Amino acid sequence: MKKIIVLRYGHRKKRDYRVTTHCCLVARAFNAKEIIISGEEDKALIETINEMQKKWGNAIKISFTNSWEKELKKFKEKGYKAIHLTMYGENINTAIKKIKGNKFLVIIGSKKVEKKVYDLADYNIAIGNQPHSEIAALAIFLDRIFKGKELTIKPKNQKIIIKGNIKGKKIVKKRK
Ligand code: SAM
Repeated sequence: MKKIIVLRYGHRKKRDYRVTTHCCLVARAFNAKEIIISGEEDKALIETINEMQKKWGNAIKISFTNSWEKELKKFKEKGYKAIHLTMYGENINTAIKKIKGNKFLVIIGSKKVEKKVYDLADYNIAIGNQPHSEIAALAIFLDRIFKGKELTIKPKNQKIIIKGNIKGKKIVKKRK
């Protein structure tokens, strides 16, 4: 399986709390290994996700950085390809065939993303060339890169397990 680390660019504590939280949830649920958040440090956000991860397992690492650029360069040095998701990029339908490698740093924006990100990225990829959302862009990108397999991975250390059903809700709760 390919290894994906997500870099959330430009988090604004008040404005982006909910959207960044959802980016973390998507990263975890769709099999990314880690999410790094740049912008305003937000301890409450990390606590919220870590609390959620205690119940639902499959805990991924979440951290803040004071420099997206430092992270991007660090991961590139480690052999990761940097993929920036932007509506201005090459459409995923053609770009996906060109992506080479097994380790990717996937950058998603919030506010206007500076030009340097476009320049430093190995690939600028559009999930369609229309404006929408970093949550949607991340989910679709991960689904495409993992070809849907991420949706059936069994999470480790879950205390709550959902048994998927056509009707109703089936939940198994583990004591420990
Ligand atoms: N106005 C911002 C700009 O010019 O960069 C975009 C803001 S958008 C709400 C936030 C993020 O969602 C973008 O930085 C990008 O990562 C992601 N995004 C939105 N639409 C996208 C698309 N069609 N393809 C890929 N990513 C997209």
